[in-house]
Order: sequence, then structure tokens, then C-alpha cells
Amino acid sequence: MLTIIPDKAAFVLEVHRRLYEIYGVRIEYFHDLDPLSELVTTLLSHRTKNRDSAQAFQNLRNAFGSWENVRDADVDAIMPQLKPCTWPEQKAPRVKEVLRLITEKLGQLNLDFLGGMEVTAARQWLEELPGVGPKSSAAVISFSTLRGKALPVDSHHFRVASRLGIIDAKIGEGKANRVLEDLLPPNFTARETFDHHQVMMRHGQKVCLYYKPDCAACIILDLCSTGQSIVAKKGN
Ligand code: SF4
Repeated sequence: MLTIIPDKAAFVLEVHRRLYEIYGVRIEYFHDLDPLSELVTTLLSHRTKNRDSAQAFQNLRNAFGSWENVRDADVDAIMPQLKPCTWPEQKAPRVKEVLRLITEKLGQLNLDFLGGMEVTAARQWLEELPGVGPKSSAAVISFSTLRGKALPVDSHHFRVASRLGIIDAKIGEGKANRVLEDLLPPNFTARETFDHHQVMMRHGQKVCLYYKPDCAACIILDLCSTGQSIVAKKGN
């Protein structure tokens, strides 16, 4: 039977509460990168498995030793280090260009100043860089040592939210980012906002899979009309 919670924000909070019961205890920040390094990882991570983008990131660090050296290197020298990623031929010039632009704007390669800005302004600053959208700016604010309050929405998170009817899939991941963040309780801390992304993403990775969601075993089946239809079809 479908449990109806008409208020969308209350619905999201109930989803969060239930998923947190399952995944919450194991959630940790997964690294301690400064904001500039986090930005580079987000540029590498587009449509790439975490393990592969982490390898490419490490390759860059090992080969060049500093972001200044990456900025000043030839694209042809950067590209082989990004081989574990998808599209190294696009990501190599993009990373170099972003590092160049940051130097041009700030006179140095360091994004720690973002920690002194209001989050909306910091995200806006980041999103003026090429290839940096709402998901990337949120990742820099939330995942880096800034540990700020911003909600990244990846493809798993997006899929779970749209199947639950929280958002219309047609709006796309970019817009979903702000819509989903606005539905969280205003008093959620940065850590709770990070946790929310993590529980939604993990549910998408473990249960609400792209091809075969395990709706019968899903702890939020009673909240999900998509899941109810899938289960009903299987029962026929
Ligand atoms: S019921 Fe199915 S479609 Fe809905 S969230 Fe759970 S796994 Fe995903």
C-alpha cells in the first residue's frame, strides 16, 4: 500500500530518516582534499568510476607534483596521466584551462578563500569556470576540507529522487541539484546535507539500481509509486 505524505519536504525527510537507518552509521567523509584539489577531482570524475578518477588524480600528482606544474605542462603530457578516465583528450585541456583561469583571476592557485565566502556566492564563483556546474560546485563545497553546506546530486541520487516522484526526471541533474537542496530542512547542518547525498547515492548503488531495482526489498517501497508498479507487474 502506498503511504501518502502530501508535503514534499516532509516526504524527503521521511525518505532521509529511513535510508539513514540503513546507511547512516557507515558514512564518513571519504577524503581530505583542499578545495582546488577537490575541483580537479570533480573535473576528472565526469562519467567515470570513482576508482578510475582517483587513479588519474594520483597520476597527475605523481607526474607533476603541483597544480602549477600541471597548468604549465603541455596538454600532450597531461593526457596520458588521465588515461584511466573517460575522455582524457577533453579532460586534459579542460583541467589546464581551469587552472590557468584561476591563476588569472586570483594571481595564484589556491581556492581556500572560498571558505570565507557565503556558500551561494562561492558556488557562483566556481560555476563561472568552464565545465563546473551545480554538481561540481556542491562537491567542492561539501567534500573538500571546506566541509560546507551544499548538496551534490549524482546520477544515482537523481534516479532515486525521480523514481520516488520528488522531482520530474525531465528537469535534468543540473536543475535537480537546487530543487532537491531546497527541499531539505533549512536547519540541516552541512554534515546532515552531506549525509543526505550519501544515503540517496548508496540506495541508488545498492537497491534502486538503474536496470533492476530491487523494489521488493526496498525500505521505502511504501513511499514509492514507481516501485509499487514494478512489484505489481512482477506479481502478474
Ligand atoms: S521502491 Fe524501487 S524504484 Fe522505488 S526507491 Fe525503492 S528500489 Fe527504487
